[in-house]
Amino acid sequence: MVNEQILREARRLADEVFRPHAQEADQGEVTGQVGQNVRMLADAGYFGLGISPEFGGMGADDATRREFTELMASACGVTGFTQQQLHAGGGFVGGAPSQELRREKLPLFAAGKELCGVAFSHLRRPGAPMVRAERVSGGFQISGTAPWVTGWTLLDSFILGATLPNGAHLFAYIPKAGNEAAMSGGPHIPLAVMNASDTVEVTMTNLFVPQDHVLSERPADALRRGDFCGITGHVFLPLGCARGSVHYLRQLAEKRGDDQFTRAADDFTCEIDACRHEALTWSGACADLPDYKEHALQARATAILLAVRAAHAAVAATGGSAHRLDSPPQRLLREAIFYTTIAQTSDVRSATLDLLTSPDCWQAP
Ligand SMILES: Cc1cc2nc3c(=O)[nH]c(=O)nc-3n(C[C@H](O)[C@H](O)[C@H](O)COP(=O)(O)OP(=O)(O)OC[C@H]3O[C@@H](n4cnc5c(N)ncnc54)[C@H](O)[C@@H]3O)c2cc1C
Repeated sequence: MVNEQILREARRLADEVFRPHAQEADQGEVTGQVGQNVRMLADAGYFGLGISPEFGGMGADDATRREFTELMASACGVTGFTQQQLHAGGGFVGGAPSQELRREKLPLFAAGKELCGVAFSHLRRPGAPMVRAERVSGGFQISGTAPWVTGWTLLDSFILGATLPNGAHLFAYIPKAGNEAAMSGGPHIPLAVMNASDTVEVTMTNLFVPQDHVLSERPADALRRGDFCGITGHVFLPLGCARGSVHYLRQLAEKRGDDQFTRAADDFTCEIDACRHEALTWSGACADLPDYKEHALQARATAILLAVRAAHAAVAATGGSAHRLDSPPQRLLREAIFYTTIAQTSDVRSATLDLLTSPDCWQAP
């Protein structure tokens, strides 16, 4: 059950601030509307959504967190995505072996006083490791380049994944302060979407990580297993984006008095609910069932295509003005396409391509 009390302020911000200013956020700088939105979410306690009340967090249950993700993505993609990346560090630090690190950091994260991002998607890439760690006296030394780190200007620290000489993965807490000499963020990567998320490459040269900042050392298989169990865990951003398009279609239907737009919005709403139901049915808890992989990938690919189709419908319904930068449909369509590759694995890529080329996407003339 979604905890509406926790979500009340998030819904207000989504309706009154984020959605009305979403185009501005999309086209602006991270220090502009997006930075302000992130600050509002931090001040309202939403960086403590997944942190236990023991450490000052909201301790929200999974259903509430999922609804928060959808809500943010439906109102303003770049705000939702940036907040999600800067909230993710808390989950890692929550599992830290060092009790002092947990006690020191989690209350700061929960209060939004320290924003902690993540950089580990490079661990999924085949070939030579992009970020390498070596054991040294008192901890580890890390060198290499993390290709994607979101919210670089806003964040105070991040969780970095690196590969050890034996192929295992090291996850460590890296504060920016004090590491300036060994670590630098590049200029923000110019992007067609999420440009205001201030996503950069970060290069480390002999960065020293003390042992008490090490969060875990895991065999590479653990990430593969995590990805396998998390196939459906990434459907909520695209489903939220699809809800954003539905919201827009309903507004347009009212403005233009067109019943077809209302029917399209109703149909997409049914599909969104069905896809969410399927994703929750085939969550990681079923990962050992023989049919799991097929159903989970189907749900993930369906969510990806659904976001694109709903945004495309918003473009079609609007007409030429949909392409104006101050019009929501073009932004929703770019955001929907972005969710195609987020946390992508080769299985997800393959399932997406299969669905894109399947008869389900094609209607006989
Ligand atoms: C705007 C933006 C912001 C992002 N922010 C963050 C962030 O804050 N933190 C973070 O950790 N990540 C972030 N990402 C990364 C995002 O999650 C990745 O885009 C996504 O995981 C795809 O990864 P990739 O592009 O690095 O991998 P790709 O190299 O495109 O690979 C995707 C998948 O295909 C597989 N693959 C690639 N090449 C081959 C091959 N030759 N043979 C077989 N399999 C292959 C990989 O193993 C992987 O599973 C961001 C990305 C973008 C675009």
